[in-house]
Amino acid sequence: MHLAIYETTDARAVVHTHSVFGTVVATTMTELPPVHYNTLLLGGVVRVAPYATYGTPELAANVRAALEGRRAALMANHGGVSIGATLEEAFEATRVLEWLCEVYVRASGVGKPAVLTDEQLTAVVERALNPPEFPRA
Ligand SMILES: [Zn+2]
Repeated sequence: MHLAIYETTDARAVVHTHSVFGTVVATTMTELPPVHYNTLLLGGVVRVAPYATYGTPELAANVRAALEGRRAALMANHGGVSIGATLEEAFEATRVLEWLCEVYVRASGVGKPAVLTDEQLTAVVERALNPPEFPRA
């Protein structure tokens, strides 16, 4: 799987984990609902790659597809995988992924989490690209 990611993306580092909250989401959902705009740090809504036995070409192919345009993906009933130009970047994507999964899982225990719409996520991108100007003192 790692080799397939290196062959098909510009990633220079791959981090794979069996972290608790990532695995909880990967065991119950087909994608991580975007309840926080930090999902944009990973390139958008995080997909869950369909299950396949670890170490198989099938799992590698499923993960490659799930990573399309993303810095992280989850693997059904398995865990997470994150990529980056450096090990530090890949690790940071791993940290963000686990945080997003923990927020979603904990929020689900309190009530039904509100999911951000495409329009709301687009507004975040526009805001980041066009930050407000503040008056100078
Ligand atoms: Zn594994």
